[in-house]
Amino acid sequence: MSFNVKDMLAGYDKDNLTIATVCSHSSLQIFHGARMEGFKTLGICVGKPPRLYDAFPLAKPDEFFAVDSYKDIPNHVEELAKRNVILIPHGSFVEYLGTKQFEALGLPTFGNRKVLEWESDRKAERVWLESAGLTMPEGINDPRDITKPVIVKYQGAKGGRGFFIAKNYHEFQRKINHEQEYTIQEFVLGTRYYIHYFYSPIAQEGYKLSKGALQMLSMDRRDETNIDEANRLGSIKELEEVGITPTFVVTGNIPIVLRESLLPKVFEMGERVVEKSLELFGGMLGPFCLETVVTDQLEFKVFEISARIVAGTNPYINGSPYSEFIEPGLSTGRRIAQEIKRARDLGKLEDIIT
Ligand code: AMP
Repeated sequence: MSFNVKDMLAGYDKDNLTIATVCSHSSLQIFHGARMEGFKTLGICVGKPPRLYDAFPLAKPDEFFAVDSYKDIPNHVEELAKRNVILIPHGSFVEYLGTKQFEALGLPTFGNRKVLEWESDRKAERVWLESAGLTMPEGINDPRDITKPVIVKYQGAKGGRGFFIAKNYHEFQRKINHEQEYTIQEFVLGTRYYIHYFYSPIAQEGYKLSKGALQMLSMDRRDETNIDEANRLGSIKELEEVGITPTFVVTGNIPIVLRESLLPKVFEMGERVVEKSLELFGGMLGPFCLETVVTDQLEFKVFEISARIVAGTNPYINGSPYSEFIEPGLSTGRRIAQEIKRARDLGKLEDIIT
C-alpha cells in the first residue's frame, strides 16, 4: 500500500468526518445510521444520483459523488479525502471495485482490509474458520469422491450464481463448467441462519473477548431464487427432468430468530472466529456474518463468512429482537457510526480504520 492511513487521518478534520459508501446494498441503512449519530453522509454513485433516495429522505446522503464507473473511484481519492471521508465497505462496494483495488484504495476505510485475503479465497477461509474450531461442511477435493449430495461453487461467483447441486459424480460431470475454478462442498441439509455480529476492539463492556467485546445484533434467512420456491412446481427431480435447475440467487432477506438455547453456541462461534482473526491478521473489525446451516442434531455448520455489513441486516433498520436488548432502535448501520464516533472521541480511530 503506497498510502498511509495514519497520516491521512492526522490531516482530517475530526469534527467534520463524512461517512461515505457506494449507493447500493445496505447504503440506506448506513446513511440513516450515520445521520442519527450526527455525521455528514456522502453517496458514491455512477452517473446521475439515483432517484431512489428521494423516496427515502431520512436515508438520503447529504451529498452525492458521481463517478464514471466504480473502478474509477481510486482516481478521486484527493477530492474525497478533502471531505474527510471514511468509507464503509459493503458487499457490492467490494465487488464493484474488485478485491485488489479495494485493498489498495488510498482512503481511510472502516475495518481491517487484511481480512479480504482470508475471506475472498475459499481455501484461506477454510483454514481460518476450521483453525478457529468451527465446523464447516466437508470439502471434497476429487469429484470422483462424491458419495452424497454436494454443492459446487465457482470461485468469485457472486450471489450464488452458477452454483449447482450434484448427488453423484455422474451428475457433477454433466453440470460442471471446467473453465471456471470451483470448490465442492457437502450439501448440508438443515435450516439456514445468517448471523450478524459486531466486534469492537475498543468496547469495554458487554460480552468481552481478549480485546474489546462482541455483539450479535440480528440474524436473517436469505430468500434465494429459484430454489426457495421451486417446490411450487414439483420436486427438484421433476424440475430437472424438464430442464429447470435450482439456483441460489439472493433476492431478499427474511428476519428470523433462533431457538434461545442455541444462542450460547452463536456467541461461542463468534468469539472463536474473532480471536483467531486477531491471531492471524490483527483482527476482523466491525460487522461480520457467519452463514450457517443448523442440522437436526442442532449442530451449526458454517459455510461462509462475510467480514462486513451484510444485506441481511436491512430488515432491522429500527432494531432487531436482539439489538433491542442492547439499545432501542439500533441498526448495524447505526452501530458502525457509533463505533466511529466512540473511536474518534477516544482518539482511537486508527484502531478501527485502515
Ligand atoms: P454462498 O455463496 O456460499 O453464500 O452460497 C450461496 C447459497 O448456497 C447459500 O445462501 C445457501 O443457500 C447455499 N449453500 C451454500 N453452501 C451450502 C452448503 N454447504 N449446504 C447447503 N446449502 C449451501
